[in-house]
Amino acid sequence: MFQANSLVRKANISIRARRPREQDGWRYAVRRQQVTMDPRPSAERTLTFVYFRSFGCRFDRAGECTMCNYAAAERVDTESVVSSVREALAKQDHYDALGISPFGNMFDVSEVPAEARDAIFDMAAGTDAGIFSCESRPETLSGALIEETVGRLKGKRLFINLGLESANPWVQAHCVGKSLSAESYRAATAALREHGAFPVSNILLGAPFLTEEEAIESTVGTIRWALANGSHLCVLFPSNVKGWTLQEWLWERDIYRVPSLWSLVETLRRLGPDATRSVALSWYSASPTDPHRLNQVSDPLRAAPTTCPRCRETVIKNLDAFNAGAGFGVITGLSEVDCLCRAEWQRRVAAQTAEAGSLDARVLRAYDRIGTELLGGQWWDGNRDKVRSELEVSYDGSVVPA
Ligand code: SF4
Ligand SMILES: [Zn+2]
Repeated sequence: MFQANSLVRKANISIRARRPREQDGWRYAVRRQQVTMDPRPSAERTLTFVYFRSFGCRFDRAGECTMCNYAAAERVDTESVVSSVREALAKQDHYDALGISPFGNMFDVSEVPAEARDAIFDMAAGTDAGIFSCESRPETLSGALIEETVGRLKGKRLFINLGLESANPWVQAHCVGKSLSAESYRAATAALREHGAFPVSNILLGAPFLTEEEAIESTVGTIRWALANGSHLCVLFPSNVKGWTLQEWLWERDIYRVPSLWSLVETLRRLGPDATRSVALSWYSASPTDPHRLNQVSDPLRAAPTTCPRCRETVIKNLDAFNAGAGFGVITGLSEVDCLCRAEWQRRVAAQTAEAGSLDARVLRAYDRIGTELLGGQWWDGNRDKVRSELEVSYDGSVVPA
């Protein structure tokens, strides 16, 4: 069984054990975005996304995913879930594309009771939205569930976002800390397509321990892999630092740095005009001081990708235009922006690459600090050799999927 690294899981569990519970009054949040949801050229869509309070992701509880913090509420019963979603939906008469999801997995009954899930699909079917979207781990999907959901939505197109993050198993296990296998991903995309639904892959830029150059290459390779393995669209997320995550612990010690928005632009440039037709973006314009953030207690934002104050507005405006359906010309234009911070970013990436050494040695050095400083040494002393051999045995020097 493919598993997230044991040190990463232990560290995440230790950090998450101390996080505060979500504030009692937080029941849902609504986020609106102008996006493309089909390969370009495609219509600009207004996607309204309702996130509702839930027990949270079971993989978060198991210590997975270095960058995530989505599980600090109690079990929420069907009635509460349904009344929150009903209240959120009543705020608008018209929907173009509608997303409704917990912050984890819509199809995991330990998080969203089956009756609540069915009621949500029925409410969505009663709106005028043309598209319905939600989030799920591939492992909790089945052909029968997808078929039933497509039927309940009464003709709306069903999009399901799968958190792929990386298609390179080594990066996935030891940097992202996620136990998602290529096989379960492929099975989910095939089942979705078989029933006329649309698989969307959430892909991370900026996993811990990678240099910025490795992160760009790894993400380019992952997007190409996802598109070749059933994805209708890829949603690219440049990583943010959230509170109560291992990533935050690393960031506080200068072991992690969020990717620059120039790395996001460079990822899109390297993908080229063909692959970027099927790429959308998310969480690229967050800011720790943004008043429109979702503002849950359990999910504070500590650092976000940016450029410099001189060019930030132009860069974000162009990324917004790309996300709303503009073509590759926007990315070419951004790649030619002449700002001092872009030259600085290029120098930093080159210097970091020159000094980085091998990824497996770098990861082991960081694990040594986590094992000693965060976990107190005893567990790490007993497990270091085993973890080191896992790092060495499976590493072929590559950060892109085979
Ligand atoms: S990234 Fe997804 S699978 Fe991982 S902990 Fe967060 S919600 Fe769960
Ligand atoms: Zn700048």
